Amino acid sequence: MSAWGSVLITGCSRGIGLQLVKQLSESSSRPANIIATARNPAGSAALQELSRTCPGVHAVTLDVCSEQSIFSAVEEVQFIVGNQGLNCLINNAAVGSSSSINSVTREAMMRAFQVNSVAPLFVTKAFLPLLQTAAARSTGMGVHRAAVVNISSILGSISLNCGDSATFKSYAYGTSKAALNMVSRCLAADLGPVGILCVSLHPGWVKTDMGGPHADLTVEESVSEILSTLVSFTEQDHGGFKDYRGQTLPW
Ligand code: NDP
Repeated sequence: MSAWGSVLITGCSRGIGLQLVKQLSESSSRPANIIATARNPAGSAALQELSRTCPGVHAVTLDVCSEQSIFSAVEEVQFIVGNQGLNCLINNAAVGSSSSINSVTREAMMRAFQVNSVAPLFVTKAFLPLLQTAAARSTGMGVHRAAVVNISSILGSISLNCGDSATFKSYAYGTSKAALNMVSRCLAADLGPVGILCVSLHPGWVKTDMGGPHADLTVEESVSEILSTLVSFTEQDHGGFKDYRGQTLPW
């Protein structure tokens, strides 16, 4: 039996989101439904190709900052998953930026918070009934039952990015991911009792448009480890901040 039921991922037009869809669709324990959302699915030839050629891959329009778009996506996903509900929501979509004390602007801060911190909360709220449906059908804790995975960043770790040890200071990005980590903790407190696992997960430094060409990991390496880690999560990992290999990170 597959470890996965139905999985929804945000930001699948490129980068880590697209690779999650690709590797899940190639997996021997392929989820029943891989709901690959993007704000403009038609603009990603790679996503179009996956949804055309891989059974169970559904390309769905979702701009994580638009209430109307979220509402439409929930209706569409409800139709796809039916009474089985949604087992795993991966909040992956984000915007990156580098902003020093000299260059940071109000607009950059607000944009980062809107996409990276506020949107994952409201996307989760909107899909909660579908996650609860899935949670009610199973026992234990993990992606087999119901889970919210917030793709965070080590740059959101306050204890690892303080003082002289901070190598990359981005006011907008770092603070938005620290806020996302708090969202994960709050969700963990609220959703744990109904059996929904909640975690923040750092994917490593990855060669994508955001990570750049000098990053440590290829997107294939990162996603392969992320998927192994996700299926290994149990109650013990609930409310944690983990990296792609499942190691605990300090907040
Ligand atoms: P990319 O920049 O390659 O991709 C970002 C994705 O987010 C794109 O699909 C983009 O869509 C989507 N997106 C942005 N805004 C919205 C929106 N409003 N609605 C829907 N989708 C949106 O980033 P990565 O793949 O590298 O990053 C994925 C995740 O991993 C992010 O959460 C990031 O913060 C995190 N991360 C990445 C690291 C790295 O080294 N790469 C390191 C640490 C964390 P579109 O094509 O439409 O713009």
